[in-house]
Amino acid sequence: MNFWSDNWVGSTSLKEACPHLFKLEKNKRCKAKDRFWRNGGSLGWAWDWHRNPSSAQEMEEWVKIFKLMNAASWKEGTDSWEWLGDKDREFSVSSVKKMLIKNKDVRNNYVMRWCKWVPAKCNIHVWRVEMNRIPTRGALERRNLSIPSIECALCEVGRESADHITTGCFVSTIVWDHISRWCKIAPIYGFSVRDMLEFHKIIKLGEIEKEVFHRIIIIGCWRIWKARNEKVFEGKEVKVEEIIGDIKVLGFLWFNKRSKYRSVDWLKWYKFDFM
Ligand SMILES: [Zn+2]
Repeated sequence: MNFWSDNWVGSTSLKEACPHLFKLEKNKRCKAKDRFWRNGGSLGWAWDWHRNPSSAQEMEEWVKIFKLMNAASWKEGTDSWEWLGDKDREFSVSSVKKMLIKNKDVRNNYVMRWCKWVPAKCNIHVWRVEMNRIPTRGALERRNLSIPSIECALCEVGRESADHITTGCFVSTIVWDHISRWCKIAPIYGFSVRDMLEFHKIIKLGEIEKEVFHRIIIIGCWRIWKARNEKVFEGKEVKVEEIIGDIKVLGFLWFNKRSKYRSVDWLKWYKFDFM
């Protein structure tokens, strides 16, 4: 064990904790045992400096080393590694796993149902939105990234966040209002992405309609974010009717090609009538 380079006492290596003393050390690769002598029960130092420490910084660091050594416990024998993640100090993959999940409280994590006939890009997007893991301007500002504005790129009024883009934004409000009328249900009100993903559970619709409505919400979230990105990165104007049209057309395409209900024609889809 290297006295200066290995992190064997304190929270860092002694080289980092005491850089001025390290400069004075003659043998920078010396072992820990080279710097101690033991006589019976007493322990002494065996320094080897280019010159004795004398400056205020050097003396300060020397005191620091003494304090660290006094706080440490000593035993005879050769050096060995110990795994601190387990009470037996034995390394094992299961103890790593236990350590990783030990302090993670996952009880409040939302379990998102993967929707088979909706493409992975939409499912993944909504999964990330629910966890607030999309690069909205609000999220970028929180990470101290320099951005020209934190205003929502779609409505240019609210602070841009995952919840705002999905539920609070003027653009998404119009989209959801249209979707609720198309699906013949009461207006959709949600305060968070999770509300939107749970909404299908409380509406009065048949089984197929409920399933379609839920998928439409997922496709809608993805399409609204796509419109936002097209405006930010390509300067494309946001057209709500285009967003709504895409949600319906893509929804029909994916429903017809990928779901088990393939007999539904466009007219039925257009009228939201699956009987
Ligand atoms: Zn907005």
